[in-house]
Amino acid sequence: MMRKTCAALALAAVLPAAHAAFPDHPITLIVPFPAGGPTDIVGRLAAAKAGEILGQQIVVENRTGASGTIGMTATARAKPDGYTVGLATVSTHGTAPHLFPKLAYDPVKDFTPVSNLVTSPNILSVNPQFPAKTLGEFVEHVRANPNKDGYANAGAGGVNDLGMIWFLQIIGGKMNSISYRGSAPALTDTVGGVVPVIFDNFPSSLPYLKSNHLRALAITGQQRNPRLPDVPTFAEQGYKDYDVTAWYGVVGPAGMPDDVRDKLADAFARAVRDPATAAKMEETGAFPLGNTPAEFGQQIRAEHDRWKSVIEKADIKLQ
Ligand code: GLU
Repeated sequence: MMRKTCAALALAAVLPAAHAAFPDHPITLIVPFPAGGPTDIVGRLAAAKAGEILGQQIVVENRTGASGTIGMTATARAKPDGYTVGLATVSTHGTAPHLFPKLAYDPVKDFTPVSNLVTSPNILSVNPQFPAKTLGEFVEHVRANPNKDGYANAGAGGVNDLGMIWFLQIIGGKMNSISYRGSAPALTDTVGGVVPVIFDNFPSSLPYLKSNHLRALAITGQQRNPRLPDVPTFAEQGYKDYDVTAWYGVVGPAGMPDDVRDKLADAFARAVRDPATAAKMEETGAFPLGNTPAEFGQQIRAEHDRWKSVIEKADIKLQ
């Protein structure tokens, strides 16, 4: 017994101390949007498998509000030891930083990129009672009825709000932005007829589209989605330069040790590429990615700059 302890101590002395055994207790993944939304769906699928790979549970904690920026502020302020990471999205790192003057974090400087897990198209849908059956009819209806209807979205200044504001600018239409804490409550109200229109990340809308509780008018991306091949893209309906992609990637606070970051990145990348997990992701209409910390870091910078230019060019302001 005594000898074993001495051996363990001797071993600990030669290993790079604190994180040699990472992870030796459960990890928290902060999901900055509510349960049942796309960030949550993707986060839980990836966390279950990555936890299995790491031999430690990854506990999902939903910390919602302000288009995901509350959960991301908590992530940025956590101890950078790898035991608290967050699921960043295009809203928290691409769009909101340009529109929230008091944002408590810098999306590039305050985080350690780990791995971008998944990308997803966005979809414009309406409650079946809404008069428009096609995108063309929708555009005509909106142009003829300025500020009459509202569109539900997953948070003011987030990608679904901004994606719609941008589209309305292109068509010269006006609608009211009705913001929720995330896709799940936004969908409940659209399906319930409280708000007639929703622009959403595809995975959360898909079940309602399949059950005909919503009618799809157009999907973003250069190609149709294999899960709903009858739904035409915005591009093929004449809006070639209009594209809005959602993504969900693991980040830690700035200053996470490289070996801890790499171990997490490897586990999450393997998780989303695992055939059973990848198949479940693809069933939601999303595309598994699982890239490296360096690739994800570049993507965050590129997305941040891309949305800056979209927002400035179109002079988008929050309503
Ligand atoms: N639309 C949000 C985003 O892409 C996610 C909404 C949600 O998960 O509820 O940032």
